[in-house]
Amino acid sequence: MTIVEHWINGETASGSSTRTGPVYNPAKGVVEREVRFASTADVDLAVQAAKAAFPAWSGASWSKRQQVIFAFREILNARKDELGAILTNEHGKVSSDAVGEIGRGLEVVEFATAIPHLAKGEYSENVSTGVDVYSIRQALGVVGIISPFNFPAMVPLWFFPIAIAAGNTVVLKPSEKDPSASLWMAAALKEAGLPDGVFNVVNGDKESVDALLEHPDVASISFVGSTPIAKYIYETASRNGKRVQALGGAKNHMLVLPDADLDLVADSAINAGFGSAGERCMAISVVVVVEPAADELISKIQDRMGGLTVGDGLRGCDMGPLITREHRDKVASYIDIATADGATVVVDGRGVEANGEANGFWLGPTLIDRVATSSKVYTDEIFGPVLSVVRVASYDEGLALINASRYGNGTAIFTNDGGAARRFQNEVQVGMVGVNVPIPVPVGYFSFGGWKDSFFGNAKAYGQAAVDFYTREKVITSRWLDPSHGGINLGFPQN
Ligand code: NAD
Repeated sequence: MTIVEHWINGETASGSSTRTGPVYNPAKGVVEREVRFASTADVDLAVQAAKAAFPAWSGASWSKRQQVIFAFREILNARKDELGAILTNEHGKVSSDAVGEIGRGLEVVEFATAIPHLAKGEYSENVSTGVDVYSIRQALGVVGIISPFNFPAMVPLWFFPIAIAAGNTVVLKPSEKDPSASLWMAAALKEAGLPDGVFNVVNGDKESVDALLEHPDVASISFVGSTPIAKYIYETASRNGKRVQALGGAKNHMLVLPDADLDLVADSAINAGFGSAGERCMAISVVVVVEPAADELISKIQDRMGGLTVGDGLRGCDMGPLITREHRDKVASYIDIATADGATVVVDGRGVEANGEANGFWLGPTLIDRVATSSKVYTDEIFGPVLSVVRVASYDEGLALINASRYGNGTAIFTNDGGAARRFQNEVQVGMVGVNVPIPVPVGYFSFGGWKDSFFGNAKAYGQAAVDFYTREKVITSRWLDPSHGGINLGFPQN
């Protein structure tokens, strides 16, 4: 069986570890390849390669680095179907969604091509007589990136284009569930002219993550994944003196006011609840509907669910399988919990007839009404195609519910009342807010990040925040000596 290896110093590398893990094709339910799990020593090899590449890469001109990012952008754009097929094969998401994910990643690559402008410093002449002050931004060194299974291309692309453009060298540890996309991007970066050692990939599990968190030559950690792991990463990497940004899990609510266009709401709930089989950190998982709109809205959502097709992502279906059998069964178990907790299962996805092989990890779209906020169906991040409905009596009750959540990644309000929408954007305690937009993922020139238990750190992903995160500012105060300015003065220069 093929083994997905590491990428160290510009080439495929096996390292010394013999541990491996399975990589499934979720639409078939079979293991199609194995992935190598790096040992601490293997991670060190990658870090040393990145460390050795740092002086030359950080010393290269801004335009040289910009040109490599431009070339990478051209390769990624021209061959996105090839990468998309890898995503569908290992993750299961349907082809259109896979290519869409790469499109969102491309936005960040395009943003990073502007690095000479984005990382410019400031200059003040004559702050005191003959004294100038200016600032420059310099790369950190070796930066670590640890990414989740649900966006095997887009999440690494949130980070490494800006990190590399700014002059850093990278060690990426992708999810062990779908590692091949990272290897494809590593080869594409080499083809784009990136010097060996600037971008490295180590595959693995907790051992490789801990090795990065503890390595003295790793300057920063960018992490995306579930909340418990994000918290662990933030605390461990911070304790080891690293700069950290750790993006965690989510439970996103859509607040529907009775004056909203309920057809638009129903379409949006379907797209945001079931796209990518609900395995998105910005998926809508709870529709909070203000009475009296609930019955009509639920019936519209239910009608649309009848037309959704589930199956192999290569067969033109709307929704693919879940990532593993274990995860599929865990998501399905929430349907039993819902019944036990007194909710109404309106559509049960367990009986879905999938257009794919019998052993695929299938679970159809599921709709559950009257979910109690004390139920685990409401409080847990389910991360699957299960959409809950909570009925409330007023805007205030809906807002209070959203603000009481431990998560604060994304939310949306649906209404035709501009004043209500404006009040919501001000009052809601969530990092990314949509107004009649269900998945408000910021475009590449803003920054991505939630609040509360959805985010640990203070530098969001991509956008200007990422330029700041991946560089250190240095401020220089300079005076070129003029004989007339000699003499002793123990105070601060005044004028
Ligand atoms: P995960 O937390 O299980 O894994 C993420 C990464 O951490 C992987 O690389 C994995 O190998 C590593 N990891 C797992 N367990 C570890 C441990 N005990 N110690 C050290 N490292 C460990 O997440 P996942 O299941 O791959 O991805 C889904 C989660 O990611 C969801 O919670 C989702 O909301 C979240 N997510 C968040 C965002 C965001 O922007 N906030 C984006 C995408 C996904």
